[in-house]
Parts: sequence; structure tokens; C-alpha cells
Amino acid sequence: MKIDRIETTVYRLPLPTPVQAASTGVMSEFDMVMSRITDSDGASGCGYTVLFPGQGGAVASIIENGFGDILQGADPRRIEWLWRQMWRRLHYSGRGGPVTFALAAVDTALWDLRGNSLSEPLWRLLGGHDPAVRAYAGNIDLNFPVQQLLDGATRSLEAGFKSIKMRLGKPTLREDVARVTAMRDHLGPDIELMTDANEAWRTDQAMKAFHALRDFDLVWIEEPIGPTDYTGYAHLRAHGGVPISAGENLHTVSEFTSLISAGGVDFPEPDLTTCGGVTPWMKIARLAEAHALPVTSHGAHDVHIHLLAACPNAAYLEVHGFGLENYMAEPLKMEDGNAIAPDRPGHGIAFDWDKLEAHRSK
Ligand SMILES: [Mg+2]
Repeated sequence: MKIDRIETTVYRLPLPTPVQAASTGVMSEFDMVMSRITDSDGASGCGYTVLFPGQGGAVASIIENGFGDILQGADPRRIEWLWRQMWRRLHYSGRGGPVTFALAAVDTALWDLRGNSLSEPLWRLLGGHDPAVRAYAGNIDLNFPVQQLLDGATRSLEAGFKSIKMRLGKPTLREDVARVTAMRDHLGPDIELMTDANEAWRTDQAMKAFHALRDFDLVWIEEPIGPTDYTGYAHLRAHGGVPISAGENLHTVSEFTSLISAGGVDFPEPDLTTCGGVTPWMKIARLAEAHALPVTSHGAHDVHIHLLAACPNAAYLEVHGFGLENYMAEPLKMEDGNAIAPDRPGHGIAFDWDKLEAHRSK
């Protein structure tokens, strides 16, 4: 069995609604880099990563020019070996950033190919713990006025969620507290509420925010400060009084090792599309488990549902409103506040390639 064909495509996809988070400004579209790998038996797999518009071409170029000759003709079942070869090839300019985004698309395609070849869904292939994973609506809503914020929460509840996230990072803490107050009043005491500051604060500002938000029974405050200030994270976790989630901007296993061993996080939140794919994501989940921590996910919920369903320490699946389901045959299945990992082989996503083709940018 050999890798026969590697196709790399970039799509520029519109968001259903322009959204804002503190670190990024308002976003109205995004790039998706797709890797499709076919083996000599005719089996195929696909994997993707997502980035800000204009950045997909660089990642596609890394796959084509950096990884192509490693993959072509190789045994697609030796995923760890292939991952290591790709990592070493780009080591000097890599170890995170665009390189792990490129690795993510290829690695996910290899795992999908593996599942498709064996007719096994990824969640069983990777460990098979429990197909039901608590899911939350990861709303990106910092630019929404309060009523729109609450209307979005109502729609999430109607869609079956019992856990909802909202953004923090308005110009004043008073405004953030007013928005959280309105949301908690709207949801009542029994719906779980997460918050995400997207690196809005310095550590001293974050500490004030943690103390001001202590009495709202928050599941967590996510990314209060810059992602690699591990000392700051440990300080906030020790003295802030609200659990912390972080990890979408950590791009390597070693960065998670640093954050976890600093004692800086309650809910490690790796994103397979930013940290190099399924292979390192599972290592981070096991690292968390070994430290008696849960694991949660960021974005790409249609693939992450499998990874979390494989893990005994799975806590929450973040369900993003990026609208990718508009290009997929099967929507995410929800039951009683949980997402359910599908039993289709591989990751089980059947993309509408014709619909995607209309948005092709490379
Ligand atoms: Mg986040």
C-alpha cells in the first residue's frame, strides 16, 4: 500500500455572520486548506485546517513543496513515521505556526484514510471511550449588542445545547460584567456558561476580571492573557477563583507540556487544525489525562468529536458557528446536550466538493 496522489486546495469561505473576538477584530471570511490523499488501493482520506483569509496559500505551499516528496510513494499506515519526517524537514523554520497547520491537514487526511481503509470510525480507532460528548455552543459575539447576544443564546438552547460560551474583552470591565450579568439572568442557573477573553488582558487586568466574574458560576474563563505567559496563567489559576481554559494558540505538544507543568490550566484546549493534526492532539489529551486534567477542543467540531469520544478525560466539544456544515452531507448529531460521534468510517465527513469548488482560491 502506497500513497499515490496528494491534492492540496485552498478555499475562501464566507462566515454566516461577521463575528468579532478580542484578539482578531471582526472576521467575515476564512481560508480552508484541504489535503486529499489517495492510496494505491484507491482508498482516500481528507483533512483540513482553517486560517485567516490570505494565509491559506502559504500553508498549501508548505504541503506541496515541503511534504510532497516525503509522502509520495510512502506507506500511509506509518503515520507516526511520516509525521516525524515532515516535522524534521521543516524543523528549522517550523516547530509551530504555519508548519503545524500544514501538518494538521495532512495528518488528518492520513487518519481519515486509515479509518476508511479499515471501515472504522476514528473515535473507535483511536480508543473508543464514549461516542457521547458534552457539547457547547462556542459563539463568537463580542461585536453583538446585548439583545443579539441573548437571541444567539436562545437559538443555541433551541438547537439542543445546555452549555454556551460568550466573549469577553470589551473596552471596560464594567461592560463585560454587564453582558455576563444579562446572559446569566437570561440562561438561569442550570445552563452552563463559559467565557472567552481571547487574550484581551494583561495579567493584572485579568485578575480584576476574574474577581469581578467569580459569582456567575462560570465553567471557565478562556485565554485571559497571551498564550505563552505560563507564569501569568499559573498566577491567575492560583489566585483568580475561576477555572481557566487555554490552548487554541499553542501549536506544539511541548507548549502544552510547559503550560500544564506550570500549573496554568484547568481545561487544556488543543485544536488539531493548529497543533499538527490528530497525532499530536491525542498526545496532548493523554498528557492532560496523566496530569488528572480533562481535555476540551477548539473549532473543527466534526473531527474533534471523534478525538474526544476516544478519550476517558473528554470534557467538552466546542461547536463553532463557522458554517462548514453548509458544505457537509451530515450535520453534527446532538442528543440531550451531547454531540454524538458518528459510526461512519474515518471522520465520516462527506464534503460537497462541487459547492466548495465555487469558493476555490488556489
Ligand atoms: Mg477561544
